[in-house]
Amino acid sequence: MTRLFNDPAMFADEMIEGFAAAAERWVQRVPGGVVRSTSSGERTVAVVIGGGSGHYPAFGGLVGPGVAHGAAMGNVFASPSAQQIYSVAKAVDQGRGVLLSYGNYAGDVLNFTQAQNRLGAEGHGVRSVVVTDDIWSATRDRIEQRRGIAGDLAVFKTAGAAAEAGYDLDGVERVARLTNARTRSFGVAFSGCTLPGADKPLFEVPAGQMAVGLGIHGEPGIDDVEVPTAAGLAELFVEKLLDELPDGVTADGARVAPILNGLGTVKYEELFVVYRTVHRLLEERGAVVVEPEVGELCTSFDMAGCSLTLLWLDEELERLWGAPADTPAFRKGAVAPQQRVEVRLADADVHAPVGPASDSSRAVGRDIADAFGTVAAVLDDAAEELGRIDSVAGDGDHGIGMQRGVHAARDAARRAADAGAGARTVLDRAADAWSDRAGGTSGALWAEILRSVGAALGDEADVDARAVATGVTAAKDSVMAFGKAKVGDKTMVDAMVPFADALAAGVAAGEPLAAAWGRAATVAEEAAAATASLVATLGRARSHGERSIGTPDAGAVSFALVCTTVHSIHTERVLTEKG
Ligand code: ADP
Ligand code: MG
Repeated sequence: MTRLFNDPAMFADEMIEGFAAAAERWVQRVPGGVVRSTSSGERTVAVVIGGGSGHYPAFGGLVGPGVAHGAAMGNVFASPSAQQIYSVAKAVDQGRGVLLSYGNYAGDVLNFTQAQNRLGAEGHGVRSVVVTDDIWSATRDRIEQRRGIAGDLAVFKTAGAAAEAGYDLDGVERVARLTNARTRSFGVAFSGCTLPGADKPLFEVPAGQMAVGLGIHGEPGIDDVEVPTAAGLAELFVEKLLDELPDGVTADGARVAPILNGLGTVKYEELFVVYRTVHRLLEERGAVVVEPEVGELCTSFDMAGCSLTLLWLDEELERLWGAPADTPAFRKGAVAPQQRVEVRLADADVHAPVGPASDSSRAVGRDIADAFGTVAAVLDDAAEELGRIDSVAGDGDHGIGMQRGVHAARDAARRAADAGAGARTVLDRAADAWSDRAGGTSGALWAEILRSVGAALGDEADVDARAVATGVTAAKDSVMAFGKAKVGDKTMVDAMVPFADALAAGVAAGEPLAAAWGRAATVAEEAAAATASLVATLGRARSHGERSIGTPDAGAVSFALVCTTVHSIHTERVLTEKG
């Protein structure tokens, strides 16, 4: 149970505020997360890490000399938005380039990639290394699809040490990739975690059972077995990880850094009892244990569970693994003297003046702002159910994410409309706000949707049915190009494609917009419901595909709900009167 919170929707913000105050010796807050509050005076490559909140010390707790320069901190269990990552990276780039490193989750990949593209376009040198250490999340032949868990620490630590040692961006990237290639993890859980404000855990493990292969977002385990003894668990960990040695490594004679990680409510003492056997077994196999870590390094709220990570060292990685570090949650040796520095960043300019627009486009902009208000109220009511659906195979945050996104979009749209913005500008401002506040996969995709529709409507033209249909088709195409999902992958695309097609067909046949939209919304609803029979193959749901049979896709359901809501608020008035 997580018991202490104020407004659950504000949990991540309030947590970051408190963390930054408590850890001011190491970090300072910037829009999007935290950055170091000190500098050694040397210019180095900057390492920026990040991910959802709920995994402390990942990610903010690993910012400081010897590890990361900044952390983008997303909402609870949701990727930080591209805007957050961008803002953190910009704050720490010292002119020698930025390495972005994060765990392999669909939402993080989308948002970090967007941020990297934007930083690159502005002339920053940026590389990304995605951590893929969890051996249970995909088979060996799809190793690049594995998700990242406590192995994050191994990659962040060696990359951070390489930066500190003066490596250039190529060198830091090489070290991070090499570390990831030589890091393997395996986790188990005994009970699920409860998100702040939720009245029950995201998932449950039957009493006396252990879920093998858990994810750090509470994705259900892949297999349930009886809880073993501490020694039995250590044997399972070591045996499976030795079956998964990286290419070129033989246990006998190898040097290895183990990380035994507690996920939330497994006590340090229990971990030490497990570690006792891990250590002995590794030595029995001829491996030399180097600077092990036992403790909470990547958590999942109050999940009862633990994981073992093995980082197989070479000479260079051993030097970097052992190098000094001084962060709020991870310390080693003595770092070079630091001076305090203060980073100043202009706040995102949400009140920027709006450009010119025609009167008719302004009127549409106001209608769009009103529509966001209604959609927000509907999503507020649906949030709990959307979260429940998402928790069956995903991580349970879809309701919270949609709520945060649509509230921010509603407020931004209102501000823009009041300032006289046309349809496109209203939708663009809403898109930026949505992705910034929602984070996650769906946040990035909804921003694409709003931007695409906005581009088709423009700020000058009279909005007609054809423009709306064109915008919706463009939105569908850009979501598919960006997220790489096809029909049948059990994502929002399964509702979007039939919606866009039905709308386009109706409009082409000369139907008025409201009628065509209404029919298309019904088609989307049916298509969303029909996703219940599909197996999820993409995103976080991937490793639990079969479990999702019988439950529709959360993103498809919410997409259809937005479509039907827009219809119910008099499409013809909201979108056009011409049809
Ligand atoms: P996250 O997956 O980051 O937790 P959300 O829970 O808010 O984000 O959204 C999950 C929804 O996003 C899924 O139900 C699915 O509809 C949609 N989704 C996930 N990945 C993709 C993708 N690659 N393309 C299209 N939609 C996707
Ligand atoms: Mg989710």
